[in-house]
Amino acid sequence: MDKIKIFCPATVSNLSCGFDVLGLALEQVGDEMIIRKTSGNQLTIRQTEGPEIPLDPANNVAGVSARSLLDHLGSEDGFDIEIAKRIKPGSGIGSSAASAAGAVWGINQLLGAPLTTKELLPHAMTGEAIASDAWHADNVAPCLMGGFVLIRGYDPIDVIQLSFPKDLALAIIHPHLEIKTAESRTLIGDKIPLKNAVAQWGNLGGLIAGLASGDHDLISRSLVDHVAEPKRKHQIPGFEEMKTEAITSGALGFGISGSGPSVFALCRGITKAEEVGQKLADAFTPQGIAFDLYCSRIHSEGIRIIP
Ligand code: ADP
Repeated sequence: MDKIKIFCPATVSNLSCGFDVLGLALEQVGDEMIIRKTSGNQLTIRQTEGPEIPLDPANNVAGVSARSLLDHLGSEDGFDIEIAKRIKPGSGIGSSAASAAGAVWGINQLLGAPLTTKELLPHAMTGEAIASDAWHADNVAPCLMGGFVLIRGYDPIDVIQLSFPKDLALAIIHPHLEIKTAESRTLIGDKIPLKNAVAQWGNLGGLIAGLASGDHDLISRSLVDHVAEPKRKHQIPGFEEMKTEAITSGALGFGISGSGPSVFALCRGITKAEEVGQKLADAFTPQGIAFDLYCSRIHSEGIRIIP
């Protein structure tokens, strides 16, 4: 095999109480990539669709991740990476992560899968780090592995796939505002009051217990963010109005996806997600800012080969 075509899912990270440690993969939203093994020893990047991204492999997360993997394997093979960018960069639903994870997953397949999916993680994170200025896995891990993922620890990286009720679905509004992950992280600072930390880890435990037991009320009670949302929500016009609309329309929870500007409502069932999505769109429209609405189930598989 010298060519592979893959779907790289968009991801929602943080999920209110899981700053930097929780993420999930979407089923219906994602990029496509075609990776070809070439006769040379260079990496090249081309883009066929979507908003412009850097094509220099040293500045594109796909190139940096691929180089990290190839150096680790001692491989001198060359690859051409073609990206159909459907997840808008800076949207907060893992645009850079999809390319970082896709590059290492695809190249690993073309080389006969010398590494496991978990072993690919640090290489995807190396690429992801150039977009966000931070060493985080909460988008690349669910993109690679699928489903709901907990990053239990970073040193060494320890990633756990969580059980979750299969009826969960999301409505996502992506306001067309650019919030750079790197800038948005500085808003949070590096200290949080102990009472906020206690509330946050209580909710994180509650969410994971609720996901495992299929207790939707516990999931709902636990989707509260005491760390990032209070500092970041002001960057998103109409945040409070959308939150009120989501909760009164029956969403289990509402929060910022990654570092924003996308926001998500977690719902029970795709029909409810579509209904809540429409309410969110109506609540956001008066802001006069263009936006996209996505509704999707959670995908148990991560990156996958497509015809
Ligand atoms: P997101 O959360 O949507 O990934 P980030 O702010 O983390 O947003 O990343 C977007 C930044 O990464 C942009 O500055 C973009 O130019 C840069 N970037 C580099 N390579 C890629 C890529 N392959 N896909 C998307 N963004 C990329």
